Amino acid sequence: MSSDDLVSVASYTDNDSHVSDLQDEVDDLETVPTYAVAHASNREHRKWDKKYSCYFCKAMVSRLPRHLYSMHSSESEVAAIMALGNSDKVKKQMLLTKLRNIGSYVHNNEVLKTGAGELSVVC
Ligand SMILES: [Zn+2]
Repeated sequence: MSSDDLVSVASYTDNDSHVSDLQDEVDDLETVPTYAVAHASNREHRKWDKKYSCYFCKAMVSRLPRHLYSMHSSESEVAAIMALGNSDKVKKQMLLTKLRNIGSYVHNNEVLKTGAGELSVVC
């Protein structure tokens, strides 16, 4: 006497496959960030008087990202940042910081070399 035949009946469903297809469609839609950004308490009094030296044209600008996007979008470094969009804000910030630091570094070198100008200190 054997009951193996009854036990080996496969218990499968073919409903699961549709779920992932739907999820893919949802992911393809342009997603709008829904999270809130925490602001530092000093934001209200934030001054934009600190200027950064642009790595590309050496201009002193208070809002470097905006300057980079509008003036140097053809530079590969800037294009790479713009290509990220809002998909990877951490990487975007990292690349922007890198460009800002390089600009400050070049600027400071120039100031030290010529003995004139104002040092831009990362703070
Ligand atoms: Zn520039």
